Amino acid sequence: MTREPLSDVELGDLRESVSGRLVVPEDAGFDQARAVWNGMIDRRPAVIVRAARADDIGRTIAFAREHGCELAVRGGGHNVAGNGVVDGGVVLDLGDLHRVTVDPEAGTVRVEGGATLAHIDAATEAHGLVVPLGVVSATGIGGLTLGGGVGWLTRRYGLSADNLVSVEVVTANGQAVRASQAENPELFWALKGGGGNFGVVSAFTFRAYPLGPQVLAGSFVYRRDGWRRAWAALSEWTRGLPDAMTTITTTLTPPSIMEMGDDPLLIVGFAWASPDHSEGEVHIDRLRALAAPDMEEVGLVRWAEWQSAFDPAFPQGVRAYWRNTSFAGLDEEVIDLLVRRGQEQTWVGTAFDVHHLGGAFGRVPVDATPFPDRTSEYWINIYGFWTDPADDDARVAFVRAFSADMDPFATGGQYLNFQGAERTGHRALDPARVFGPAKLERLVAVKRQFDPDNVFHVNHNIPPT
Ligand SMILES: Cc1cc2nc3c(=O)[nH]c(=O)nc-3n(C[C@H](O)[C@H](O)[C@H](O)COP(=O)(O)OP(=O)(O)OC[C@H]3O[C@@H](n4cnc5c(N)ncnc54)[C@H](O)[C@@H]3O)c2cc1C
Repeated sequence: MTREPLSDVELGDLRESVSGRLVVPEDAGFDQARAVWNGMIDRRPAVIVRAARADDIGRTIAFAREHGCELAVRGGGHNVAGNGVVDGGVVLDLGDLHRVTVDPEAGTVRVEGGATLAHIDAATEAHGLVVPLGVVSATGIGGLTLGGGVGWLTRRYGLSADNLVSVEVVTANGQAVRASQAENPELFWALKGGGGNFGVVSAFTFRAYPLGPQVLAGSFVYRRDGWRRAWAALSEWTRGLPDAMTTITTTLTPPSIMEMGDDPLLIVGFAWASPDHSEGEVHIDRLRALAAPDMEEVGLVRWAEWQSAFDPAFPQGVRAYWRNTSFAGLDEEVIDLLVRRGQEQTWVGTAFDVHHLGGAFGRVPVDATPFPDRTSEYWINIYGFWTDPADDDARVAFVRAFSADMDPFATGGQYLNFQGAERTGHRALDPARVFGPAKLERLVAVKRQFDPDNVFHVNHNIPPT
């Protein structure tokens, strides 16, 4: 959809109708305001509305519709496909709506739709509570939760989306509605993994759990000659591991800020989500006995600190293309592949994470949310990133080829949030492939009810037809 640039009169009307600030191309801060985490995404909207109150959401949607503008909704701006910004249209930036309200008695946390994970961890820590979130603190709660949300508590408590109690949403016609198990249950279901297709979430309410402030967490680091041994040990160790232990294993060439040398490393990161630290230590000892690491750092750490420990490895503005898939197990063929591809990632940036799943995540019935797969034990996220535009083609090709290598082992799950933009111009994954026909049909029915004109299409889109 293209239209003439917005006139001063039109922008004046918008400025009058919202309480938040507008940023237009002539403003000094425009380039900063339009930038998203992925530096490959270079889009110039006609106007960015920095919503200051929940009312601004409905007004901005109405303005975009009345003026025939494409609308992008921005939470934390971390979407790898760049769905938080659009060329020539309106960006509704929720970043100033980040209030977090903890209700310790009810064990719930209400979070405004533009909060980052850092806002939530900072607020819950004071109450000795945690919400299952992702692992990089600048990520937005909006995109994270609407796609699912995996992190250090996934095996203990499931996805972020699994822990939603209710959601406050502004739909395409500007109406503010609530969704929960009791109110608009189909909309509630769709919001737990169907992405930003159904409305703009002004606030999420999550269940929270007592944990911390100190948790037992850490990482084992293996040099190249120990990788095969480490993967085999993980395969054995993760069998029958209690839900409290969540593991994410990464192969990467460390950035200089990590002060770990220039050679690719395999890092097994783990967090033990239980106050019984000695039991956690027993499990960590077992892994140490199966494959002694070359370096390690294990101990008690403040939860909020652990939640931001990996931030320096993910700088804002790098160029990025990601793909992901679920798979059943770490058999020899898979290990061969992970070792081979890991050794080829000799530049700082591109890496891959293998998430060990199962536990509470795996016990959620597969139909309870749109999230595609609950049965696979592992999920791999191949996150390509680099800094030089001259490397774009080679790096994208590497991620695609690695992802294709995983195809024979794929168990059918693709996670919206770990998917980059396709360079053919379309942003969408094939939704039938992601969700499967039955869930897609259900999602389309919700889309038809709440966004029949596909106002919310700057996302991994589920068209209403
Ligand atoms: C460095 C990095 C680390 C990451 N780590 C993890 C991780 O540990 N676990 C994990 O699961 N994922 C992770 N992700 C992926 C992340 O969950 C997705 O990229 C997600 O889309 C980011 O959400 P956002 O709000 O920051 O992004 P945005 O780009 O702002 O938005 C993403 C999408 O969500 C929609 N959206 C955002 N907020 C709202 C809202 N309030 N209402 C309606 N729609 C909304 C947008 O329209 C857009 O379609 C990571 C990504 C990066 C770049």
